[in-house]
Amino acid sequence: MAHSTASAPSLPDPQPAPLPVSADVVIIGGGVIGASIAFHLAEADAGRVLLLERDLPAGGSSGKPLGGVRAQFSDPLNIRLGLRSLDAWRDFARRPGADIGLQTVGYLFLLGDETARDTFAAGIELQNAHGVPSRLITPHAARDLCPYVDPGTLVAAAFSPTDGYATPKAAVTGYLRAARRLGATVRTRCPVIAIDTADGSVQAVRTPHGTVRTRTVICCAGAWSGEVGALAGVALPVTPLRRQIAFTGPLRPRPPRIPFTLDYASTLYFHNDGADGLLLGLSDPAQPPGYDREFSREWLAPFRAAAARRAPALAGLPVTGGWAGLYEMTPDRNALIGEAPHPGRFLYATGFSGHGFLQAPAVGELVRDLYLRREPFLDIGPLAATRFDGRHAATRPEAHII
Ligand SMILES: Cc1cc2nc3c(=O)[nH]c(=O)nc-3n(C[C@H](O)[C@H](O)[C@H](O)COP(=O)(O)OP(=O)(O)OC[C@H]3O[C@@H](n4cnc5c(N)ncnc54)[C@H](O)[C@@H]3O)c2cc1C
Repeated sequence: MAHSTASAPSLPDPQPAPLPVSADVVIIGGGVIGASIAFHLAEADAGRVLLLERDLPAGGSSGKPLGGVRAQFSDPLNIRLGLRSLDAWRDFARRPGADIGLQTVGYLFLLGDETARDTFAAGIELQNAHGVPSRLITPHAARDLCPYVDPGTLVAAAFSPTDGYATPKAAVTGYLRAARRLGATVRTRCPVIAIDTADGSVQAVRTPHGTVRTRTVICCAGAWSGEVGALAGVALPVTPLRRQIAFTGPLRPRPPRIPFTLDYASTLYFHNDGADGLLLGLSDPAQPPGYDREFSREWLAPFRAAAARRAPALAGLPVTGGWAGLYEMTPDRNALIGEAPHPGRFLYATGFSGHGFLQAPAVGELVRDLYLRREPFLDIGPLAATRFDGRHAATRPEAHII
């Protein structure tokens, strides 16, 4: 699998559509979240659906070459979002109808101390109660699954065989192609630069190519959502934070097929990259917030130090290239999904803090139901952005994220 050394190239423009003068609903952002919502709305025949993307589809964080999918979380809401989405990813070839290269290799969390083991044991109890087949395993069982791991440095590991990873860009393309087939309009290279409101309601969105009258806007602008929310006076506390991955290129001997493996203490992670290589990552604590998306190598030093402790054979592997993207962070590292109290019909789905790809199918369903005022499969009230407005105390810290 070939990769660029900076930002991955964007997808070709699926449809250089003319800008309509009006739409029933305007989705802002053509990443995996906006694409999933466009598909779910078009499938539900929810009126004239228009998606506006500033750049090209998957030009933001959803351009990540491979994205993990899982249901191992500590918060029941995230477990249910992950589980529902895993079902949809498995069914993606049929609905909406595309190959996303899903690899069901499992997720393996390496646990180096008792506190981490206890946190994950509690999470597993909750996950099992929701039907997730996760389990605590011994260090040697972890090494059997992932031969790079040094079992002597672990107290346990958590493993769920139905997790894995897939290709986010293929998911974006699949959703958008189906959305267009079902009647949605996708307009690329078309940034929303203003949102008009009057009498407490959305009236229109403005772009350099014209104005679109609409009564509903859905903000799915990823790391840029704070700015898009501000266009309508809606506070969406989303902070951009660069995160990077590296590729080893082809290795000899070929790497064994391994789970998506994460060291909980250091945030080091790695998994196969095609048949011949490995993908390496680390959430660098030294990374300051900001919009920088250039790939750089300084984080490889802490990566190699962490690898030397947990998976020594990784420490000396070559790095032939990499990719940098943005986590869209919220203060409690959980998503913002809901409808603003003001202006009316300003909906948002953003702030996934590093787990937006894996939740995209479920989020598409939920936002469809929010728009259509249908009963959702899950109460998303606790994910409303108003939890940070100082009047509500209910933030939701999630333990199983890096
Ligand atoms: C290194 C890295 C590793 C990750 N690993 C995982 C993983 O393993 N599993 C997982 O689930 N998630 C992972 N993520 C997170 C995941 O990629 C994101 O949560 C997800 O892609 C967010 O999708 P989105 O559609 O909300 O945002 P994006 O994909 O960023 O899409 C937002 C879009 O909005 C557009 N936009 C912005 N402003 C405007 C405007 N004014 N007008 C029109 N369009 C606009 C942007 O151009 C962009 O295309 C990772 C992220 C990174 C960076």
